[in-house]
Amino acid sequence: MQNSVYDVIVIGAGSGGLGVSLSMLKLGCRVLLVDKSDKKIGGECLNDGCVPSKALIHVSRMIHTARQSSDFGLEIAGKPDIEKVFKYVHERQEIIRKHENAAYLKAEGMNVVLGTASFVSKDEVEVNGQKYRGKKIVIATGSKPAKLTVPGVERVKYYDNENVFRLTALPAKILMIGAGPINIELGQALHRLGSEVTIVENSGKILSHDDEAVTDVLFERLKLEGIKFIMNARLESFSSPAIAVIKHKEGALLNVEFDALFVGIGRELDFAELKLANAGIETKDGKIVADARLQTTNKNVFLCGDIAGSLKFSHAAEQHTRLLVNNFFSPLKKKLNNDRMSWVTFSDPEVAAFGLSEKQLKDRNTRYRRLENDFSDDDRAVTDDYRYAKMVLFITKGIWFARQKILGGAMAAPNAGELIEELILANAQGLSINAIFNKIYPYPVAARINQQTIVNLKQEQLTPGLKKLLQLAFKIFS
Ligand SMILES: Cc1cc2nc3c(=O)[nH]c(=O)nc-3n(C[C@H](O)[C@H](O)[C@H](O)COP(=O)(O)OP(=O)(O)OC[C@H]3O[C@@H](n4cnc5c(N)ncnc54)[C@H](O)[C@@H]3O)c2cc1C
Repeated sequence: MQNSVYDVIVIGAGSGGLGVSLSMLKLGCRVLLVDKSDKKIGGECLNDGCVPSKALIHVSRMIHTARQSSDFGLEIAGKPDIEKVFKYVHERQEIIRKHENAAYLKAEGMNVVLGTASFVSKDEVEVNGQKYRGKKIVIATGSKPAKLTVPGVERVKYYDNENVFRLTALPAKILMIGAGPINIELGQALHRLGSEVTIVENSGKILSHDDEAVTDVLFERLKLEGIKFIMNARLESFSSPAIAVIKHKEGALLNVEFDALFVGIGRELDFAELKLANAGIETKDGKIVADARLQTTNKNVFLCGDIAGSLKFSHAAEQHTRLLVNNFFSPLKKKLNNDRMSWVTFSDPEVAAFGLSEKQLKDRNTRYRRLENDFSDDDRAVTDDYRYAKMVLFITKGIWFARQKILGGAMAAPNAGELIEELILANAQGLSINAIFNKIYPYPVAARINQQTIVNLKQEQLTPGLKKLLQLAFKIFS
């Protein structure tokens, strides 16, 4: 049965789908939002990702900080009650779910259908046997954790982000496969709650997408806390449901016993149930083919969020939303550009990055300077005990009075995600480093380290010739 034509049909109500559908609704469009069930609304971020992981990190950080008070004579004894920990996590999710559910969205004026959507023609999707036509259709169906396929895996019950937040007891020994952001965040949180955590990583580095100067800081801190790493090694097989066989790059084999296995080895795009061929939408190499405007090979169907196969963050989905909404209303079409993207791994210390990486700068033959600064002499780092922290900044080449611009950077520090915000602004707005240099920061805010990095550069750029000029100026003008 054909019922009506919507301005926009959005498939998937996660970060991307909610963003596009709510924006289009507020702008006066007739919107249909589809997700598989009411509990799926909010997508991975609310249900199995950002929200539960950040709530768990919050609790584990409190417990860790409390334990550190023994340095000052206040002894903390006992173990955290895991049921209470996860109750807190689930309560936080329910607070956000109050405005991310079908009834709420319907009350806002959204048409919501619960069920699995698939294409039946170029401009029609079918849900629960009913067809819906859209002038534009946005696919925002997200991604899934990549599955383990090694021999013996069928005998092992393992966790990934889709079931870890439903743990009812804390495993004594956790083996984690992969040292990406999901496992690093979760591994530290579960270790702080009381599990013994071992992380296996097939490269020599954690957080492979971030600058090594800052990931090394985190790596050392995690090891100091007691998290074990087996680097340059890969999971070969399971010799029993509780023993993993790990192979080092040089060939040595290691048996590692575990009570629970966690897998965080990347993300997969799964679009079989969308029946894309019915709409003339092409796929290639496990991705949906789309151009820089996120337009698929069907000119009225677009991608948003993880399914676009680019950066997989909630704020990347937000960036896609802005692009799509602009392009739906404006003749000036925007293209996706990740040059000013940023991301944060919410470990302790946090690792935050923004703009272009050193590799990207080199690949593009950009002339840049790499500035590094550690926090050992920063007063706030001294008082708050994080002198181990470090930052890296990439700026355009230039001299003292030139308008050198910030191209990118990274930081490992407590609250690094907040500390780099002003650098992200400078980068996004094309401000010169003088915007940071000329600021007066309240003493001793932690963000003063950003200014100190620029001050160090300015001091280094004071050549003997420049100093002579300044002496002359002093004679004339003082
Ligand atoms: C543990 C973890 C922590 C994370 N932490 C962060 C973080 O701190 N910050 C950050 O920015 N990002 C984080 N992320 C990434 C973030 O969760 C994702 O990038 C984001 O949720 C992607 O949003 P999306 O809209 O593309 O997809 P999703 O949120 O996955 O939503 C897709 C929706 O589509 C629905 N759907 C799928 N197929 C169909 C269909 N055929 N019909 C109808 N509905 C369908 C699904 O049910 C789902 O609700 C984290 C991820 C994980 C796993």
